[in-house]
Amino acid sequence: MSRLHPIGRVLKGTVLLSFTLLLAACGEPPPPPASRTIVLGFDGMDPDLTAHLIEQGELPNLERLAKTGYAAPLATSNPPQSPVAWSSFATGTGPGDHGIFDFLRRVPETYAPDFSISEVVEPENSFEIFGMTIPLGSADIINRRQGTPFWLTAEENGNPTTILRVPVTFPPDDVHRMLAGMGVPDLLGTQGTYSYYTTRRSRGDETGGRVVYVRARRDGIARTEFEGPPHPLSSDGEPLSVPMEIEPWGNGVRVTLDDEIVELKPRRWSDWVKVGFDFGGIMTVNGMVRLYLIEAMPDLRLYVSPINFDPTAPEVPLSTPDGFASDLAGRIGLYHTIGMPEETWSLNGERISDKAYLQMVETILGEREAMHYDALERNDSALVVTVFVQTDRISHMFWRGIDPKHPRYEDTDELGRGAIRWIYHEADRIVGETLKRMGPNDRLVILSDHGFAPFRHAVHLNRWLVDNDFMTLKPGRTTSPALFANVDWSKTTAYALGLNGLYINMEGREAQGIVKPGEAQAIKAEVAYGLMQATHPETGDPIFDEIYDGADIYQGENNADAPDLVTGFHRGFRASWQTTLGAVPQAFVEPNDQKWSGDHCIAPTLVPGVFFTSWPVEDPPASIREVGAFLLSTLEN
Ligand SMILES: [Zn+2]
Repeated sequence: MSRLHPIGRVLKGTVLLSFTLLLAACGEPPPPPASRTIVLGFDGMDPDLTAHLIEQGELPNLERLAKTGYAAPLATSNPPQSPVAWSSFATGTGPGDHGIFDFLRRVPETYAPDFSISEVVEPENSFEIFGMTIPLGSADIINRRQGTPFWLTAEENGNPTTILRVPVTFPPDDVHRMLAGMGVPDLLGTQGTYSYYTTRRSRGDETGGRVVYVRARRDGIARTEFEGPPHPLSSDGEPLSVPMEIEPWGNGVRVTLDDEIVELKPRRWSDWVKVGFDFGGIMTVNGMVRLYLIEAMPDLRLYVSPINFDPTAPEVPLSTPDGFASDLAGRIGLYHTIGMPEETWSLNGERISDKAYLQMVETILGEREAMHYDALERNDSALVVTVFVQTDRISHMFWRGIDPKHPRYEDTDELGRGAIRWIYHEADRIVGETLKRMGPNDRLVILSDHGFAPFRHAVHLNRWLVDNDFMTLKPGRTTSPALFANVDWSKTTAYALGLNGLYINMEGREAQGIVKPGEAQAIKAEVAYGLMQATHPETGDPIFDEIYDGADIYQGENNADAPDLVTGFHRGFRASWQTTLGAVPQAFVEPNDQKWSGDHCIAPTLVPGVFFTSWPVEDPPASIREVGAFLLSTLEN
């Protein structure tokens, strides 16, 4: 079978399917519920920071809830990562049951990392003709999360439910109304790939982005291509593309993208620009982008956002019912559809400025608010859950502004230093707006999936494994690029991959595994003991709070994917980006000099989330996995 880019397979399926697509008939709208439970999720809202800002009088609405209702920290999942914790929220189970252990899972056959949240399953059969692969039956997208989300139970009990942008809900479940969140890819099938057009000769592709070198011709116009998804019906992986022209326009540029003309002033975001990638004569893959001109010609630097699916003509299932995504766009305007729209990589790579990033987040926050209030105004669901992840994204990117010990504190200006305060104020304002829209019998629940900590030191776990003889590099090599390229698996007993995972190179499980089942426990114990002794080379601070044995903390049917050891870092430390992808740099610990300066992928006891209710509760949930059952208990049915 040909190897197509995953999204090519999905598009192929949906494009062919669309010939026969019938829209599901809409039933009678349900009557307004007698009372509602409204849930606001603020990803990454930290209990200590929240308490501090309440003390300062800066979060009046949350303060009111704390006084008249209930407020406490909420235990998170292990590891405390958003896809893991929100899956526990949805299903009331731990990773051993729901099967999401980390953003990245490892494929034992190849040692390669794979996105753990959703996957594309190829159609059963296909045939090739004239270089085109024609599938028989459509490709399927599956949510890797196992188990039954509580909203399905709520619906079964007769409570119509609206679920907006909860992470790990792609493809969406069959409830009254749902808009998928984290897990929805961009048109390229990635979690967000931006494009950066520049007249400066530069390095080529970079993390999260592709750099396109352009040059103005004699007529002053730079002509290039904007590349889209791979050709859905071709097996050679060639991308579809549309022509793109960039020419000077006042102090900005005029961009002709496909047939659309966009006039850009410096340092302003454009509105949405729709892009149709035509193929096969009669078919089009629809996407949309936003542009941001950093610098006009002659020293052009033009940023183009990841290509979002167009909610008015989505090529993948974004919503339940199918038409909801489009209907919503009619009510609130076009909106970001990709699962993680806050383009952290473009800021971390310093392609866009703090200001541009904050403007983008403000736009996305506005979209979430609009869809949340729209759901409240429709007043046809007994349970409404909306997750705002902007609290998390701002905390990741701007912790340097509130942490004087962070390497990037000094060069973060007033705007950057105020960003976290701003997003907490915004969250509190949204709480207030929600309270205003509630009826006398409605209840409000607020939670976060985990808290936050500084990320000052990047820890290269695979370096430690090499230095302590658990991993061996090929002869003559002292370091390794990503994907364990220089690792000699025949002499390696353990490896690190993902944000919190360590794995044993098990015989019979890993492709080149050497550790016999009877030896694994001893190696795990040695690694765990060694890591617990590890300290920062300069300060002597311990790096780990706890190393967990996967066999102890996970029980369930999906333990085959579980890491053998889970790293519980101390505050201030985190696995390096290189570690997450299986690289072995020179040093063990390095200062984190990037703008991504806050994190939470540490010991879960150090980063609990928050839990608030608008009424006093007797028996509150102690951990995020108990929240679903608690919410069900508040419903009339
Ligand atoms: Zn996060």
